[in-house]
Amino acid sequence: MSPASTNATTTSDHESATLLDGKGLAGQIEIALRTRVDAIKAKSGRIPILATILVGDDPASATYVRMKSNACKRVGMDSIKVEMPSVTTTEQLIAKITELNNNQDVHGILLQHPVPNHVDERACFEKIALRKDVDGVTCLGFGRMSMQESAFGSCTPQGIMHLLRHHNIELAGKEAVVVGRSAILGKPMAMMLLNSNCTVTICHSKTQDLAAHVKRADIIVGAVGVPELIKAEWIKEGAVVIDAGFHPTENGGVGDIEMRGVKNIASAYTPVPGGVGPMTINTLIRQTVTAAEKSAGLDVSMIS
Ligand code: NAP
Repeated sequence: MSPASTNATTTSDHESATLLDGKGLAGQIEIALRTRVDAIKAKSGRIPILATILVGDDPASATYVRMKSNACKRVGMDSIKVEMPSVTTTEQLIAKITELNNNQDVHGILLQHPVPNHVDERACFEKIALRKDVDGVTCLGFGRMSMQESAFGSCTPQGIMHLLRHHNIELAGKEAVVVGRSAILGKPMAMMLLNSNCTVTICHSKTQDLAAHVKRADIIVGAVGVPELIKAEWIKEGAVVIDAGFHPTENGGVGDIEMRGVKNIASAYTPVPGGVGPMTINTLIRQTVTAAEKSAGLDVSMIS
């Protein structure tokens, strides 16, 4: 991709690569969400409610759930926090999900990943009713999203797509390389880019010569969970660089992509932190508002 072929910014040496500021965009979207929440209240007398389920006592998961509840509050929504002990069985978790599916006050259900090893996480995800699957974790939701039918997309890739669209980044015909193939991130990301007419390569731990694939990428997504695995020297001039990873360090943190110097090579890039993370939470909240709009009989599309 030549620098001029994306609508992202650019100078000839990309000194002013576009910062894909997820934090800023999420803040803007929250303002619009408050208005949508008010409209739901006016129409139905109810406010959107997200139920979060946390199993066990993993501190990082507890922090993520707290951040999601706080985001609900900021837009005038409510959240129900369900906390279950680490000894919870698959059957007990499914019973709780079924109860929340049947609770008319609940519009969206988030089961915080990961659950303890003895729990069949996939079986539990699959029990979430499609209309409440605002985190986009069910096979049915994934299949429908892939076929471009009405469904909520997995939040991290959906948030990345929103960020790309907001910055008018041209996708059709571009070579996209997604490093990682997890059910919540890599696979749906690849499918969303494919649906936006990219030519998509998915890399994983068995990929031979990762560098060669990354070097071809007009759009590179790091979704791998290994600090700075993807090297700055592999990034093609003018590429759009999306880093979903975050690994705390003494100096703040790094992502899955080595960012040193990337600003001078890329045409656009996500900061770490402040790029993909805020868009993930924002997408969860936005999709819950959409679920509540549908439940209130407001005319909306689930693909938001
Ligand atoms: P995951 O389930 O652990 O999947 C990691 C993927 O990376 C797997 O597909 C794995 O391949 C692949 N991989 C591992 N080592 C590799 C290597 N050396 N070369 C190429 N591929 C390799 O992780 P995830 O849940 O998708 O998360 C990925 C990253 O995104 C993490 O940094 C995570 O923290 C971040 N994340 C961020 C958000 C957010 O809101 N910002 C949300 C979710 C995740 P195999 O399939 O072959 O094992």
